[in-house]
Amino acid sequence: MKIDADKYRRLINVGLALSAEKDIDSLLERILQEAKAISHADAGTFYLVTEEHNLRFAILFNDQLGIAQGGKTGQPITLPEMVLHHDNGEPNLGNIATLVANRGETLAISDVYSEPGIDASGAKKFDKITGYRSCSFLTLPLKNFADETIAILQLINAKNSKGKVIPFPEEVIPLIEALASQASVALENRHLLDKQDKQRKDLEREVNERTEELQNALSRLSDAHMVLQELTTIDAVTGIRNRHYFDDMLAQEWGRAIRQKYPITLLLLDIDKFKKVNDTYGHLAGDESLAAVAKAIDSSFNRPSDVVARYGGEEFVVILPYVERSNAGRMAEQVRSCIERLSIHADGFEIKLTVSIGQVTLIPVDDMIPREIIARADQALYKAKSMGRNRVCTYSSRENSSHKNSSDENSTH
Ligand code: GH3
Ligand code: MG
Ligand code: MG
Repeated sequence: MKIDADKYRRLINVGLALSAEKDIDSLLERILQEAKAISHADAGTFYLVTEEHNLRFAILFNDQLGIAQGGKTGQPITLPEMVLHHDNGEPNLGNIATLVANRGETLAISDVYSEPGIDASGAKKFDKITGYRSCSFLTLPLKNFADETIAILQLINAKNSKGKVIPFPEEVIPLIEALASQASVALENRHLLDKQDKQRKDLEREVNERTEELQNALSRLSDAHMVLQELTTIDAVTGIRNRHYFDDMLAQEWGRAIRQKYPITLLLLDIDKFKKVNDTYGHLAGDESLAAVAKAIDSSFNRPSDVVARYGGEEFVVILPYVERSNAGRMAEQVRSCIERLSIHADGFEIKLTVSIGQVTLIPVDDMIPREIIARADQALYKAKSMGRNRVCTYSSRENSSHKNSSDENSTH
């Protein structure tokens, strides 16, 4: 075979083209097709060394038999992997490809059937099944930078129809070796790029997982924070809102009522003669009664804007925004009568209680502060107590003329 300048030129172009292949299958296919074209081989096989140090069929082209397996276009390969080393550590030299992989040198065999020291049983078996006439083998190792075999390129020629052996010409060997070394670099680069790509994807996945974990943790934290915040506004003895919550809500409602000029009602409720409950039934019964009264008051006001809180001791407070004075009075009277009818079971005793209620309804004006509405409710409550307890009294500015007159009306139940 005459080696012409075209072949060298082609080789250089192939080297460049190989580096451009985007995935391993197209790369292997390209290497094998080029090697077959340069050597005029009838068949070619590509094996890859696996991570487990086995030899795996990657591609198999046989033009005479019309077989295309592996690569991007061929049928899937079902052939078993071959071990490079036996279990006892001895190199597997019983097969041309594993022999070359272990030796790390090119091997050219002109007739596999007559070559001394070569186990041709594999080729014979293949020939028997397929009717092929295996003959010349040119087998080359592809090596990495550390001089380790990473792949095997094998080119095969069959006997021709007249039974004549067509060996690979001597001059073609350095050409295929040059191709093999270019292919090794391209293959190594491809491996590195794939590895890099996998690492990048792994990293990306890990970052996403961490981000999600962090978001979950943050959301748990914010839930916990909300629960905690909720807890700090709850009174431990009665389970309803505490004074702190009431103060915040009153400040909020106050500002809004000033801006929007709507009435706001405050009810201050005080359990009558509660000291006697403690004295008669003990503090535990006292606590339980307090909780029962708190619950009854709390469930009497159901609008989202209503605020019921424990003001302190045996006193409770209710904010009713948007409610007209007379309606608020009716609601106060309802809750008073509800408590009066309540049978409280506390620490084994049945206890009856009543409450006195001071009511004030007003539309706050700019220069009033929330404390003033509390003071007025307190005055009304004091009046309810002094009038005999168990009643609702409404703050009257006529009776308390020293106070600024907001837009309240005055009456006493
Ligand atoms: P009045 O009708 O004038 O309101 O009489 P009173 O006995 O209810 O009023 P006073 O202010 O004299 O007493 C309030 C009592 O409430 C005193 C205190 O022992 C009791 N008290 C306040 N907070 C609690 C509490 O958390 N648990 C219990 N068991 N008792 C409480
Ligand atoms: Mg009191
Ligand atoms: Mg009291």
